[in-house]
Amino acid sequence: MTRKYDQIIVIDIECTCWEKLPPPGQETDIIEIGICPLNTATGERLERRSLIVQPQRSTVSPFCTRLTSLTQEQVEHGISFVQACNILRFDYQSHRRVWASYGDFDRQQFERQCAALGVTYPFGASHLNVKTLYTLIRRLRHDVGMADALRLLDMPLEGTHHRGGDDAWNVAGLLWRLLLERQKG
Ligand code: AMP
Ligand code: MG
Repeated sequence: MTRKYDQIIVIDIECTCWEKLPPPGQETDIIEIGICPLNTATGERLERRSLIVQPQRSTVSPFCTRLTSLTQEQVEHGISFVQACNILRFDYQSHRRVWASYGDFDRQQFERQCAALGVTYPFGASHLNVKTLYTLIRRLRHDVGMADALRLLDMPLEGTHHRGGDDAWNVAGLLWRLLLERQKG
């Protein structure tokens, strides 16, 4: 199937989490998928979407609620992981487009969770790590978190940090800035 370069699908997930290791019997689950398609011709961010996903193997801890603002009650009303993956494929053609996230965590979690639950991986092979790109283009010696990356470029952090939809939106803005900077040489 031919690959499409008209948009980059920027993704940011939130997951169940704990201060230290998961409690016995629980596994990290995706609880939110933030999606922001970036038009590669104009830089327009086409949508700021948030899919709330029901965790199948864990529950939302108070620690996780403090970090993400998401509660167990909220995620219990979410869609299933397999439904969320289908939305990515059908609504965003995620398997045919380049997708991007800030760091490698999102890709690894999708790979792990798809394998563990027997769900078809919704993406193709082209993943863009915006954190690596940032480090290289800005010629930094160490990588930095998303909030610092925005701050260093005097860009606002729009919405709520650690919410998938807002994080994806901000990462898409950052990515476009980097692509423009690269063009200028
Ligand atoms: P983020 O995109 O930075 O909001 O982080 C994505 C996910 O990584 C969160 O939903 C958590 O599951 C996990 N995470 C991020 N920061 C922390 C932290 N300080 N402690 C534990 N888990 C974290
Ligand atoms: Mg996030």
